[in-house]
Amino acid sequence: MNSATQLIHSIPIDPLTGSISVPIYQTSTFVQEAPGINKGYDYARSNNPTRATLENIITKLEGGAGASAFASGLAAIDAVIKLLASGDEIIAVDDIYGGAFRLFSKIYQKFGINVKYVDTSNPQNVADAISPKTKLIWLESPSNPTLKISDIQSIATIAQEQNVLLCVDNTFASPALQQPIRLGADLVVHSATKYIAGHSDLIAGLVVSKTKALAEQIQFIQNASGAILGPQDSFLTIRGVETLHLRIKQHCINAQTLAEALYNNPAIDKVFYPGLVTHPNHKIAAKQQSGFGGIISFTLKEDTVEAAKNVVCNTQLFKLAESLGGVKSLISHAATMTHKTIPDNQRRAAGVADSLIRLSVGLEDVKDLIEDIEQALKSNQTKNLAQLYEEIFVTN
Ligand SMILES: *Cc1c(COP(=O)(O)O)cnc(C)c1O
Repeated sequence: MNSATQLIHSIPIDPLTGSISVPIYQTSTFVQEAPGINKGYDYARSNNPTRATLENIITKLEGGAGASAFASGLAAIDAVIKLLASGDEIIAVDDIYGGAFRLFSKIYQKFGINVKYVDTSNPQNVADAISPKTKLIWLESPSNPTLKISDIQSIATIAQEQNVLLCVDNTFASPALQQPIRLGADLVVHSATKYIAGHSDLIAGLVVSKTKALAEQIQFIQNASGAILGPQDSFLTIRGVETLHLRIKQHCINAQTLAEALYNNPAIDKVFYPGLVTHPNHKIAAKQQSGFGGIISFTLKEDTVEAAKNVVCNTQLFKLAESLGGVKSLISHAATMTHKTIPDNQRRAAGVADSLIRLSVGLEDVKDLIEDIEQALKSNQTKNLAQLYEEIFVTN
């Protein structure tokens, strides 16, 4: 069966009433017939039928053995790190999501968990970094914001040989385009806030495990720590995931078309999009993903913060905001927004130039999106010219 059909029919019809949409069990506790005798639910932190339905849908979608739904993507990441103990080491992708970097460096480092950052787009770098202390490899593919691709299958082989867990943050690709467990990963995390829920209306996270044993450990950690997804947001995430394949298909078409248009624009220096044959990891992306996703980054010929600010402030359809994966197109500037906490030199060394702009390409008509970016790039040029005249006028 096609995966879109499978997904839609993995959403159950309520056996009690025939309700075609999943009921929201807005409850804290469940009445027991006798102590310890219940209908599979006792307290809503431990389990809730609406959340359990979402977890089952995601388990099937990622090809895992079990899943847990969390209050945010970061709560999901946090649960995975709690599998480790003091003295353990993580090897992580060097352009990791900023929130994960903050969690690792500001919280877990003081508990004695250290992280080595390497360029995981070359699997050899991962193999070389492994030590007897290494317990976890952390990938994001595609990564943020330069859309680097890591070869998940090759790194999974290295991880298995060394008896190290491999976790992939699959937020950017979504399970509609990439299923890391099928490529050998042990764990998958999502910020379901992004493509999975897909409508920019909630914060949610997911962990999917390859084995029952790992799934049970994550459930234990979730129940012990308590960062569960509530029933209302579980319902909305299910509602979002129903159209995941349809949305992603259009995100990919729009992004590919826009990336090609940007590639030919004279104001632009580099375009980062795995669907372009010029992308250094294009072949691996084509091998492990069934599409190239909806995120594009680009840099300007005039590589300054000011030039980039002019562009992001002059789009009409692309709204200036962090986050991604929703219906409406978003634009953001790395140096002053998503990556502002990283020191300039460190940011530049990671390939994030002063003018780097990230687009989350939405579901509008792509002709309108191309026009919007093109006019913003022109208004940038006009403004610079105006500034130049002003300077000449003022100095003379
Ligand atoms: C947004 C994001 C997260 C964090 O998710 P929240 O739902 O905001 O907590 C983690 N990883 C990636 C790649 C993200 O884009």
